[in-house]
Amino acid sequence: MQRTRRHDNSFEVSIRSQLFDKGFRYRVHYPVPGMKRITCDIALPGLKIAIFLDGCFWHGCYIHPPSVKKNTTFWMEKIERNRARDKRVREHLAQIGWTVLRFWEHEAVEAIVTKIVSTVEQHRAAKSSLRGSARSLQNMKRAPGQFEAVDSDVVATEVQTVEQPPRVP
Ligand SMILES: [Zn+2]
Repeated sequence: MQRTRRHDNSFEVSIRSQLFDKGFRYRVHYPVPGMKRITCDIALPGLKIAIFLDGCFWHGCYIHPPSVKKNTTFWMEKIERNRARDKRVREHLAQIGWTVLRFWEHEAVEAIVTKIVSTVEQHRAAKSSLRGSARSLQNMKRAPGQFEAVDSDVVATEVQTVEQPPRVP
């Protein structure tokens, strides 16, 4: 089992460079709000999206169990602590309204980038619909499949604001 460096390994760098080439701007090793010494690998703080690119060894992927021959207990305990911490971090972020995307290093880079892009565009569309800006929604580039959900949200909001409570005679 390869123990990749925890930061800036080729897996992270290839995903970041593909996102950058597609015009996305993001923060790297961004501190998780409200948690000391914890960072997410990629963040879009404005959209509250946190992305974790987890190495199979350090984060204890089920498909690639660590094959350590020495200090087995030490490594197993360490990986188990990492997994428990990962879970706490994801739950914390969800509680404060962030969207968490987690990927394993064994996943295909293209698929990961596609998922990140569609999530970001979905959030951008939702954010601009919250602002009530129908025009910017029309001009916005959206991933196919996100369109209907966004528009139905807008319709639902409009219906709520237009509807008046029944008048008391
Ligand atoms: Zn794996």
